[in-house]
Amino acid sequence: MTANLLDHDLEGLAAFCERHGEKRFRAIQLFRWIHQKGATDFDQMSDLAKSLREKLKTTAHIKGLPVISQQESLDGTIKWLFDVGAGNAVEAVFIPEEDRGTLCISSQAGCAVGCRFCSTGHQGFSRNLTSGEIVAQLWFAEHFLRRHLVRDERIISNVVMMGMGEPLQNYGSLIPALRTMLDDHAYGLSRRRVTVSTSGVVPMMDRLALDCPVALAVSLHAPGDALRDHLVPLNRKYPIAELLDACNRYLEHAPRDFITFEYCMLDGVNDQPEQARELVQLMQKHRGGQGVWCKFNLIPFNPFPASGLLCSPPTRVAAFGKILSDAGIVTTVRKTRGDDIAAACGQLAGDVRDRTGVGRRIARQRTVMLQPHKAVAVVAKEI
Ligand code: SAH
Ligand code: SF4
Repeated sequence: MTANLLDHDLEGLAAFCERHGEKRFRAIQLFRWIHQKGATDFDQMSDLAKSLREKLKTTAHIKGLPVISQQESLDGTIKWLFDVGAGNAVEAVFIPEEDRGTLCISSQAGCAVGCRFCSTGHQGFSRNLTSGEIVAQLWFAEHFLRRHLVRDERIISNVVMMGMGEPLQNYGSLIPALRTMLDDHAYGLSRRRVTVSTSGVVPMMDRLALDCPVALAVSLHAPGDALRDHLVPLNRKYPIAELLDACNRYLEHAPRDFITFEYCMLDGVNDQPEQARELVQLMQKHRGGQGVWCKFNLIPFNPFPASGLLCSPPTRVAAFGKILSDAGIVTTVRKTRGDDIAAACGQLAGDVRDRTGVGRRIARQRTVMLQPHKAVAVVAKEI
């Protein structure tokens, strides 16, 4: 089997080149062709010697993930479902905004953490993605969008690891993928604009701080351990006090001076005013050093039937947010994007929950190509 070059960060590619008797600078050329130009064919790589191109053809390949479907929301959000084999699929979502383009990507097929309010969690764990499969989502989206929007410059400015899976439970694949995102010879994203979101895998937060510090979002969802144990079962292993200590340690290395806490608003479960006040106390108790070190992002719960949970009414979300802001904590309420195509947090792969059925669905779904310059909803239909 030949090597898929999407699996390598620049160091990995340099080692690959050296193993094949090639100088390290060849790795930079290759890396740029793959990630900056989206090349898949070694013959395109005009500045590589013909002998090297021939050698690469027999030892390596550049292969992304097959696209099962593509859906575009009325608000411009685009969701792709990628086939990762054996009946598994993962999703990535592009969210265009005035001043940035954010891509939300997946790190695992399914997830072992099993949070109550998350459809990926309900699906169970299938497998870790490889580095190449994580990067392939960005590689595909960036080059697709450039072709689609007929633009030659970078379109995706931010990446959030908020799709399917717990990135810190797939650490070995995550790190080379992050390094590729940050590398100036590839996507050149700012560390501040690449966000790892975690349900709180404490030891891996410490390692991330040293190996590849990027922006960090922590899914908190409850002010106390009893409730968090129930909503995010990983809390039984790493309770809130340990998690917040790890956040403080992370900030010593982080590219930003705050952690974003995500808090999914669940009707009658974690959205009461006294719970907001408990959160304020918790944050005050654990605040390391001076000044603000956290921001809160309240996420209206995106319901799915198997959860048995409901979204908090907007007035309660607003009242909850006000208690936090009045206490000096910067708080935002996440706008729901891509509602019409189920592209919001926690809705990802709702369609593939029944993994055994995916093969059949793959056969039935049609990949719909976008109509350039037309703001129409294009939804993959079952045919
Ligand atoms: N596993 C990581 C990253 C993926 S989940 C984590 O848990 O942080 C990304 C975010 O979506 C998390 O904050 C998660 O709590 C939130 N989320 C999951 N299911 C949701 C749902 N149904 N509605 C709203 N947010 C949800
Ligand atoms: Fe996994 Fe995150 Fe979903 Fe929890 S919220 S089950 S950690 S993907």
